[in-house]
Amino acid sequence: MSYSFDDKRLVDWFSKIRRKLPWRDNPTPYGVWISEVMLQQTQVSVVIPYFERWMQRFPTVKDLALASHEDVIKQWEGLGYYSRARNLHKGAQYLLETHNGNIPDNPTELKKIRGLGPYTIGAILSFAFHKKTVAVDGNVLRVLARYFMIKDDIYRQKTVGDIRNIAKEILPDESPWLFNEGLIELGATICRRTPDCGKCPVKRSCRSFINGAANLLPIKSKKNLSIPIYRTVAVIRCGEYVLVQRGKKGKVMQDLHEFPYFETDEEGMQPELLIRKISDDFGLGVTPLGTLPIVNHTFTKFRARLTPYLLKSSERQSLSGFFWLTLQELDRLAFSSGHKKIYLMLKER
Ligand code: SF4
Repeated sequence: MSYSFDDKRLVDWFSKIRRKLPWRDNPTPYGVWISEVMLQQTQVSVVIPYFERWMQRFPTVKDLALASHEDVIKQWEGLGYYSRARNLHKGAQYLLETHNGNIPDNPTELKKIRGLGPYTIGAILSFAFHKKTVAVDGNVLRVLARYFMIKDDIYRQKTVGDIRNIAKEILPDESPWLFNEGLIELGATICRRTPDCGKCPVKRSCRSFINGAANLLPIKSKKNLSIPIYRTVAVIRCGEYVLVQRGKKGKVMQDLHEFPYFETDEEGMQPELLIRKISDDFGLGVTPLGTLPIVNHTFTKFRARLTPYLLKSSERQSLSGFFWLTLQELDRLAFSSGHKKIYLMLKER
């Protein structure tokens, strides 16, 4: 079976509606790399200020490679999936050592950079180097599954491979990067989860639209539901100081700061029990100071409910794995998203 796409209409439409984004004007390989990694699982509007701050702080691969680990994590704070920031840092160090800080323009060398998958490699080659190569992300998968009325499960690797092959087949010789960006833009703005086919530039040739199946595709097998977790958080103050810990290597919260907490069931933990646990586990005597609002947040596959209690300790006892820091010192550190909300509430009190 051969495939063809109305690429002319797509590119004409894209050239007219193209959103102005900071990584799109004069795209550099470094800017494309950073923006594409930031855009994974994050909306464009959220990424823009992060990207601008990042490029001011680390304008080149060399600046990023030579930055401190803490600084890199701090600049990423709030974007989640911190392994992406660690990979960018390691990738930049690798590029400085092996390519003098330049980003290579071929897939074999790009594959050696930590954290770069087929989509990001395709995006760098296409958007920055204008090579004729595909860049298939979730948007493109959805658009092409509908356009060609593909009824296979797009969560299966085989289907992804098939759609990548179709993307290669329909990629035009002329300005293929505009075609790639146009497909992504179509998926991000019109052919969304609920498609707005009336506004679509390629509806006349879209098989799903013609057959009234746009809302039924793509087929997705059920993903695992997120796992609920419940934590009682102890925000312990001693004068100006607050007790925090830093996420251990290999853990989800690696490098991020958090207040001490205890896993509980849905019922949570009464303050009396919390005070007893702190005494038993840390050997630290605390008294209640008040409560802070409950914080709900999600990370990776978890849905967390954090119940914070404010407590007071009369001495800054040294505890293994924990630090007593002032609010000013905490300002410079990166927190996990849920504990950041607690920290901001604490600052406002
Ligand atoms: Fe998507 Fe509808 Fe356009 Fe087809 S016509 S590509 S389903 S928005």
